[in-house]
Amino acid sequence: MRYVSTRGQAPILGFEDVLLTGLARDGGLYLPEAWPTLSAVEIRGLSGKPYAEAAARVLAPYAGGAVTQDEFATLLADAYRGFGHTAVAPLKQIGPRHWLLELFHGPTLAFKDYALQAVGRLFDRALARRNQRVTIVGATSGDTGSAAIEALRDRAAVDVFILFPKGRVSEVQRRQMTTVDAPNVHCIALDGTFDDCQDMVKALFNDPGFRDEHQLSAVNSINWVRIAVQIAYYAAAAAALGAPDRRIAFAVPTGNFGNVLSAYAAKRMGFPIERLILGSNANDILTRFLGSGEMAMAPVQPTYSPSMDIQVSSNFERLLFEVVGRDGARVAELLGGFRKEGRFRLDDEAMGRIRGLFEAHRLDDAGTLDVIRRIHRDTGELVDPHTAIGIFAAEKSRLDPGIPIVSLATAHPAKFPDAIERAVGFRPSLPERLQGMMTAKERVQDLANDQKAVKSFIAGRVRR
Ligand SMILES: *Cc1c(COP(=O)(O)O)cnc(C)c1O
Repeated sequence: MRYVSTRGQAPILGFEDVLLTGLARDGGLYLPEAWPTLSAVEIRGLSGKPYAEAAARVLAPYAGGAVTQDEFATLLADAYRGFGHTAVAPLKQIGPRHWLLELFHGPTLAFKDYALQAVGRLFDRALARRNQRVTIVGATSGDTGSAAIEALRDRAAVDVFILFPKGRVSEVQRRQMTTVDAPNVHCIALDGTFDDCQDMVKALFNDPGFRDEHQLSAVNSINWVRIAVQIAYYAAAAAALGAPDRRIAFAVPTGNFGNVLSAYAAKRMGFPIERLILGSNANDILTRFLGSGEMAMAPVQPTYSPSMDIQVSSNFERLLFEVVGRDGARVAELLGGFRKEGRFRLDDEAMGRIRGLFEAHRLDDAGTLDVIRRIHRDTGELVDPHTAIGIFAAEKSRLDPGIPIVSLATAHPAKFPDAIERAVGFRPSLPERLQGMMTAKERVQDLANDQKAVKSFIAGRVRR
């Protein structure tokens, strides 16, 4: 399998290089040169298989032999072993034609674990084969840091350093990072803000001597392999509900467009996905775009669904490449304009392609609490604010009522206790397997916002 950049100017790469590279050298994102497909018989054969086996079948074509289907099955079984539900990604019915796909059974209680747990292992395997190591350095305002730490802990070829602003993340968020007892994980509480942490990471990457000596690398939200691993839960859900013989729709609370892009890939692989329904919060750039045909930036507003407080959905670039006929020069032109002017417009033909599959609905904070309250009253389920927005979008959809809709439950409600308490009057409790965290010993280094101090801390702890 060969991978091409959405801007058409970067070298064509194989699976392992795409895994280790992240962003393409021309500023674009990698996509498969051609979409692999599964036959109707193969899709039917997924239902009833253990999750890791079904996922391996879906994922193997993307590796083109660099990782075999059997190797994927073993690696994924290991990645998902510690998850809190033996089905890994269970479906739960909440209405006559409406299901929830629970993607919060991983170690940090959000869907990003499903891809990161696999990518961490694939990273380690590729580096070992090449006899290389990397030092991952990242800044976090809360949730990304813990997902990365959980994915990379105990990996032999990787050391991880995560900077967070001291005193400015919640206790649960801090403990999710600092109680991880692994020799390759290092948490730094920086005396500063989240922006200071980000600036510090940038400064480290901008020092070529330091960067090369320690093989600095990043955990990237635009890594193709993360998108590829996520295809598996769409595929498994579709097969469980009757694919290829019954059409299906998914409702996805969307920020960076990474999750829903995996659903698009599942459709390209042959799964009978009739519609993709996006939910957005007050940061509604995608909803406005689907209405008007113009992508226009606006200031970011904080909401109860912080993982969707995003204005530039970086993975949208991959869909853009597809709907302009895989013309990299056109993508570069449109996004160049977007960077300069904060807006771009698509022609009717490209918009027609997008609107043929996608629709989008927006919900504000008050509406989000209403949905949480109503779903709890009507079904007994507690849903997190992100999930509530997807459910709302599913309910708004004008889709043929014969088609089942699966709403993605992207986080566990216990991650957002304040919003849940406002909606239903009580705080959800953490799953039992995480409760030990609240009393476990913390490992964290306080550091001044000082490059020399941070560099010497990292240099002293990187394993050789
Ligand atoms: C990251 C995240 C989202 C948004 O997903 P994208 O891939 O960025 O669109 C939605 N919900 C939760 C809980 C998340 O953590």
